Amino acid sequence: MTQVERHAYDVVVVGAGGAGLRAAIEARERGMRTAVICKSLFGKAHTVMAEGGIAASMGNVNSHDSWQVHFRDTMRGGKFLNQWRMAELHAKEAPDRVWELETWGALFDRTEDGRISQRNFGGHEYPRLAHVGDRTGLELIRTLQQKIVSLQQEDFAETGDYEAKLKVFQECTVTRVLKDDERSETGAPPDRRSGGKVAGVFGYVRESGRLFVIDAPAVVLATGGIGKSFKVTSNSWEYTGDGHALALLAGAPLINMEFIQFHPTGMVWPPSVKGILVTESVRGDGGVLRNSDGERFMFGYVPDVFKEKYAQSEEEADGWYTDPDNHRRPPELLPRDEVARAINSEVKAGRGTPHGGVFLDVSTRLPAEEIRRRLPSMHHQFKELADVDITAEAMEVGPTCHYMMGGVDVEPDTAAARGVPGLFAAGEVAGGMHGSNRLGGNSLSDLLVFGRRAGLSAAEYASGLGGTRPAAPEEQIDAAAAEALRPFAAGDSADEGPAENPYTLHQELQQVMNDLVGIIRRGPEMEQALERLAVLRERAQRVGVEGHRQFNPGWHLAVDLRNMLLVSECVARAALERTESRGGHTRDDHPGMDRGWRKVNLVCELTDQAQGADARKEALIGLRQRPTDPIRADLLALFDREELLKYLTDEELDR
Ligand code: FAD
Repeated sequence: MTQVERHAYDVVVVGAGGAGLRAAIEARERGMRTAVICKSLFGKAHTVMAEGGIAASMGNVNSHDSWQVHFRDTMRGGKFLNQWRMAELHAKEAPDRVWELETWGALFDRTEDGRISQRNFGGHEYPRLAHVGDRTGLELIRTLQQKIVSLQQEDFAETGDYEAKLKVFQECTVTRVLKDDERSETGAPPDRRSGGKVAGVFGYVRESGRLFVIDAPAVVLATGGIGKSFKVTSNSWEYTGDGHALALLAGAPLINMEFIQFHPTGMVWPPSVKGILVTESVRGDGGVLRNSDGERFMFGYVPDVFKEKYAQSEEEADGWYTDPDNHRRPPELLPRDEVARAINSEVKAGRGTPHGGVFLDVSTRLPAEEIRRRLPSMHHQFKELADVDITAEAMEVGPTCHYMMGGVDVEPDTAAARGVPGLFAAGEVAGGMHGSNRLGGNSLSDLLVFGRRAGLSAAEYASGLGGTRPAAPEEQIDAAAAEALRPFAAGDSADEGPAENPYTLHQELQQVMNDLVGIIRRGPEMEQALERLAVLRERAQRVGVEGHRQFNPGWHLAVDLRNMLLVSECVARAALERTESRGGHTRDDHPGMDRGWRKVNLVCELTDQAQGADARKEALIGLRQRPTDPIRADLLALFDREELLKYLTDEELDR
C-alpha cells in the first residue's frame, strides 16, 4: 500500500484560475468544505494574463446592447456549432457576474459619467468588454482571491481556523480523478467502463514530491487549455491539457477537439518571445493591419457571411470608431479565425514583414499619450522584449495558438461532465460554449458564469449524497502512484535503448502539432501526425528522469506528457475526421463550410487499449459522431432566415 497524505473535503476544485476560484467561492457559500488545487502559486493562474476584458451586454457605452445581441454574436462567432443553451445562459448571466465582481471590489475603467467602461472587440456588435486597461485578468483574479480571503476570515471568526471550510493547495499537480469502481482486482486505474462515481483526486506536491489523496465526492475540473502542445503559443507552462486528460481517463467524453483558436496577433520577433500575445484591444482601440506593401489588406478578406456587417473602404471603417451607428465595422475586427487566416495568406503570398508576420500599427492612429494610457502592458511588453516603441513604430505580429474551444462534454445548466457522476468542468477545459471559434472577451465571462454554475451543482450533488460517500479502492491509489513515479524507474535498456528525455519528446510533439495540425490543415499531413504521435507515445513509455522527487521539473514534464499526448491525439483525430473548414478548423483540402457538418459534434473517448498497462501503438482515442441539439425556436427567431440559411440545412429550418 502506497504511503500518501490523506485529506477529506466535500468538493475539490482542480484549478485556481477564474473558473476554479468562482466555483470554489460558490461551493463554499453553499456550505461545502472546499479544497482548491493549483499547479502554480495561488494567484498565478493563466487568467491573470487576460488582457482585453470581460464580455457582458451591460449596454453602458451603447444602450442598444442586450443579451440577445450578445447571444447572436457568440453564435455567429462560433459558426453556429455552439451548444446554444450554454451560449444563452452565458449571454444572459454575464452582466450579473460582472456587477457581482464590482460588489466584491473590482475596479473597472469608467465611462465619463462613471459607469463601467466597455470596449470594442472582434465579432462583438457593440462595445461590450468591461476592462481594466489591458490587465483585466489580473483584476479578476485579484478580486476573486480577495473574496476567498474574506470568506476565510468569516470562517476564522466562527471556528478559529482560516482554512476550516476553504483551503488552497498550491504548487500541487493532480494526476488522476479517483472513482469508487470495481476494477481493483486488476490494479488498473479507473476508466470509462467502470461506471463508478467520483471519489476524489490523486496528486503530488511539486516542491517535495510527496503524494496525496483528497477524498471527495465532487470534483470540478477548471484546469484551462492545451496550448503547450504547440510550438508557437500564447499559453504559459501550465497549459498542458491536464483537465482534458483527467476527464478522458475518468471516462468522460470530450467534444469539439478539432477547434483550436490561433490568435491572429502574437509577437513574431525576437525568437525567444515568439507567440506571446498582442491583445486584440490594439485593434479594438484603432490599430490597423498592413502588409509589407503598406496595404490595409483585411478589406480583401471579408467572407460572404459577414459582408453586410463590415466596412468596404478605409473611410467607412475609420468613421466607425467615432460614429458606430452610421458606419460598418473595420474588417480588422472580424472574428479571430478570419483575421488569423488572412495574415497567414499574406505572409504566404510574400507580403510579410522581415520576421514573417504583418504590421500592426497603432502609432499613426492614436496620440502617444493615449496609447500609453489605454495599452500600458503592450507598450511595456514591446519595449522590454523587442525594443520596439509602439507609440512610434508598427509591431510585427502573426498567428499564435491561443485557446482551446474543445473540452469536456458537459450538461449546459449544471456543468456536470456527461457519464461520470460527481465530475464537473468549467472554463477553458469545458467544451461546447464557443462552438468552432470563441469571441474575444467571451472567456472571462464564461469562467464566471459556468464557474459559478459548476460550484453550485457540485455542492448540490455532494450534499445530495448525504452520509454515503464513494471511496476509491486502495489498488487504484497504488496504481496512480506507480504511474506518477514511473519516470524514476525508467532507465537505459538493452532491448529498447536509452531512456527518453522528456524535454526532447515535448519539443518533438510541439513541432508535430505546429507543422501538421496547425492553422491550415491537410488530410495526409494529419495522417502523418497521427503516425508520429503513435511513435512519440511509444517512446513516452520509456521516458526517464534523474534525481529525486524534490524540485524536479523534468519529472513534472514527464508526467504532463501523458496529458499532452492524449489531447494531441484527440485534436488530430477529430481534425482529420471533419472534412470542412469552420472557425478554428481550416482544411486546405476542404475549404468550404458545409451545413451538413454543423449538425455534428465529434466526440472523443478513450479506447479499451488505453487502459492496458502496455498501451503503446494502438490508437488511444476513439471518435464518434453525435448530432448537435436542435436550437430552440425562440432563439432561432433572433436571426433572419436568410442568415440562418448560411449555417443551417433547409430541413433544420423547416422543422
Ligand atoms: P486558468 O486561468 O488557466 O487556470 C487553470 C488552473 O488550473 C491553474 O491554476 C493551473 O495551475 C491549474 N491546473 C492545471 N492543471 C492542473 C493539474 N493537473 N493539477 C492542479 N492544478 C492544475 N479571455 C478573455 O475573455 N478576455 C481576454 O482579454 C483574454 N486575454 C487573454 C490573454 C492571454 C495572453 C491569454 C493566454 C488568454 C487570454 N484570454 C482572454 C483567455 C483566458 O484568459 C483563458 O481562457 C482563461 O483565463 C482560462 O481560465 P480557466 O479558469 O479556465 O483556467
